Formats: sequence, structure tokens, C-alpha cells
Amino acid sequence: MSDEPEEEPEAEPEELPPYVIENARSGRAKCKTCQRKIDADALRIGVLVEGRFGQGYMWHHLNCGAKRMMDQVEEAYAQEAWLNAKVPPDPEDLPTLEKLRTLAEKAEVEREKKEKAKKTIPYAEIAPSNRSKCKQSGEPIEKGAVRIILGMEAHFGNQTRVSPYAVLPRYLEQALMEPDMGTEEEGLAEALRENSRDIDPELLEQAIAEAGL
Ligand SMILES: [Zn+2]
Repeated sequence: MSDEPEEEPEAEPEELPPYVIENARSGRAKCKTCQRKIDADALRIGVLVEGRFGQGYMWHHLNCGAKRMMDQVEEAYAQEAWLNAKVPPDPEDLPTLEKLRTLAEKAEVEREKKEKAKKTIPYAEIAPSNRSKCKQSGEPIEKGAVRIILGMEAHFGNQTRVSPYAVLPRYLEQALMEPDMGTEEEGLAEALRENSRDIDPELLEQAIAEAGL
């Protein structure tokens, strides 16, 4: 890279600072948070890491860094890490810590929401449309009907991936006998009660009874 320091064999290896905040000197680095290119001149934060070939910086857009690792951004600000840049940016041009903390908090709320929205297999739910089919029977599942989502396993080498397998309650017994079925009958009713949060408990109990659990 053109902006690498010249080699000086006699000099002691320089101690690299743990953080650098700067305007990107080229558009070549990729943000380790969002995986997008960091445009030349965009504000970025470098975190010193010990790699296979020695020390180097992992770069993030400054805003991305705040969203992902605010503690480190706080440290970098406390150390005035912009002074470590070859061409230090004017601190006036940097976002305030206050602003970055707000970004970090919003990102945290988003992560929590996603975590909550993630459903744990097995679960039961109300079909939101007429478009799905019972995987076991091929019958269409009507909008508003209860469907039970089981886990079907697929094997790739020594990895196992579980994918959702939606069935009508009356085909549940049959589905459980599928060779790659990852959901077991034992404890299934309890698991459905535990994991199915968006469904009327009465409807859930009817479905459990219909499924023969
Ligand atoms: Zn980014």
C-alpha cells in the first residue's frame, strides 16, 4: 500500500496506538461492521488487532463502530484517537460522543426487537394468509387457521441445519415420523405452550388436542 511507512531496518518497530479516528485516506478499506466500502474522506475508526501477519487496524465507519462497539469508541474518544491519524481531523468535525451514544442505544433497541421477534421452533401460529401449504399433506392452510411449525433437519457434511416445517395439527403425528424430523414428540406440547406467544391460548390448546399430543 502506498501509505505504508517506509522500511527502516535500524529503527525499533513503532508502538501502534490502539485506536485511530480519521478521514479515510483512500476508498479501499471495507467496514468490518456493515461490510460496505468506506469512501475516501469518510470518518472511520481503526481498532488495532493482532493478526496472522502482525498488527494492523480493523476499520469501521465511525457511526457503525458506535452501533456495534460503543465501549471502544468511548475509549478512543477518551484517548483522543484522532491525534493518531496521519492527518488528524479537526475535532470540531467529529460527531459528539452524545450523538454516537444515541446511535448506540438505538442499535441496541433494534437488536433486542429482532431477538424478541425471532421465534423458537417448535411453535404454533395463526396463518397470516391463504398462501401456505401443509408440508405434510400438501393441503392449503387457510388464513386464520392454526399451523404448527416443526423443525426439519438437513445435513451438510457434519453440519445440521433446521428449517421450519409447517403442518396442520391433524397431520402432526405423521410429520413426527418423517426420517429427518428434528422435533420430538416428547415434551412437544410443553414446548408449544412455551414458544407460541402470539396465539390465543385456547386456540393453542385446541390445536394441541387435535394433534393428539
Ligand atoms: Zn459501516
